[in-house]
Amino acid sequence: MGNYKIAKMVRLRNHFTCEMCGKNKLSQMYEYQSISFVRDYIPHHYKQMCRDCVYKKAYGTKLYKKKKEEKTLDDM
Ligand SMILES: [Zn+2]
Repeated sequence: MGNYKIAKMVRLRNHFTCEMCGKNKLSQMYEYQSISFVRDYIPHHYKQMCRDCVYKKAYGTKLYKKKKEEKTLDDM
C-alpha cells in the first residue's frame, strides 16, 4: 500500500460531533475512508471521527487498543 493512508488525523484539537458514535468531542479529529475494490462503488468518506472510532474502523476491535498506544494514525 505504500504511503497511501485511509485514516489520518486532521486536527490536533477540535470541537466536533463524531460521525460514527455521534458523541460531541473536544479532541483529535480524524478522517477515514475505507478502500473499495468494487468498481463504481465509493465508500463513505468520514470527515469527522473521534480517536476511538477511527482506530476501531482501521484495525478492528481486537487490535485497536494496541495501535492506539503505538499512535499509528496520529501523524498529521
Ligand atoms: Zn466516535
